[in-house]
Amino acid sequence: MPRNVRAMTDPSPAAVPPRRLLLLANPRARNGAAASDLVAPLAGLGLEVVFVEPDGIEALLATIRTTGRTVDRIAIAGGDGSIAAALPALLDLQKPLAVLPLGTANDLARNLRLPDAREEQLRLVARGGVRRIDLASVNGRPVLNAVSIGLGAAVARMHQGTAKRLLGVLNYPRVLYAAWRRIHPFRVEITCDGTVHRDRFIHVAVVNGRFHGGGIEPRPSGTITDGVLDLYALRADPVHRLVRAMAKLKIEGAESDEAFRLQGRHIAIATSRPRRANIDGELVGRTPLDIEIMPEALPVVVPGRAEHDGS
Ligand SMILES: [Mg+2]
Repeated sequence: MPRNVRAMTDPSPAAVPPRRLLLLANPRARNGAAASDLVAPLAGLGLEVVFVEPDGIEALLATIRTTGRTVDRIAIAGGDGSIAAALPALLDLQKPLAVLPLGTANDLARNLRLPDAREEQLRLVARGGVRRIDLASVNGRPVLNAVSIGLGAAVARMHQGTAKRLLGVLNYPRVLYAAWRRIHPFRVEITCDGTVHRDRFIHVAVVNGRFHGGGIEPRPSGTITDGVLDLYALRADPVHRLVRAMAKLKIEGAESDEAFRLQGRHIAIATSRPRRANIDGELVGRTPLDIEIMPEALPVVVPGRAEHDGS
């Protein structure tokens, strides 16, 4: 089957059920108590649960690299930000990652088609199958969902401290309008799998899965397992057309005069002066950006017929 039409519902077959689980609480959010509530039900599903609330990113990475070696699966109770922060260690270890969405941004959970009900999510941790998802690398840093320049950074300057939800707020026309008023179109050179595109944009985003920013779908058929990245960019048109273009992208993933789309495996983004880049919700990068797909980089626990992963 061509990789771009593989379904999410055919995880690897199973041998041995997972016995020991590392459950990690989001080190940055105030949901440690909520995460600790998950220990008993997971134990009730037959898992020996090692529960750790790391007090920062470094502790999170160190816990995965040490305790993670002694378990069959690693569950993260948190949002996309927690998972993105854990990626360097998860990539090193290659143990199946289970996601228990607790954060405000849960695009990975949507990309994995996780059930909404907590009971079903917990059952998956213990009994779900495993398949590998793509990640991206941006200037050598692993990326879960998306990288963007333009509007996201403008919103960040308006709303200090809300960077984690930047992409999500672009769904709101009022915020989009405020950001649009403050941003000037900038020249961008996009090199996608060897083909160069030059244009003036106010926003450029490269997306790994189907969903990012709390609902924008740059390509409705795109998935987190299709081995390609999706890019969309917005031109500086009158704001009512821009809002319409965003809505069109969100609803149909469609290209319009205002929105430019392409897909590829290796995308380089250059601007005439360095611009801040939003990487998985954090303003931590700068152009030029060298973005590459990392196909099937990480094993994750997903819904499916298979009950175990054999690890
Ligand atoms: Mg993809």
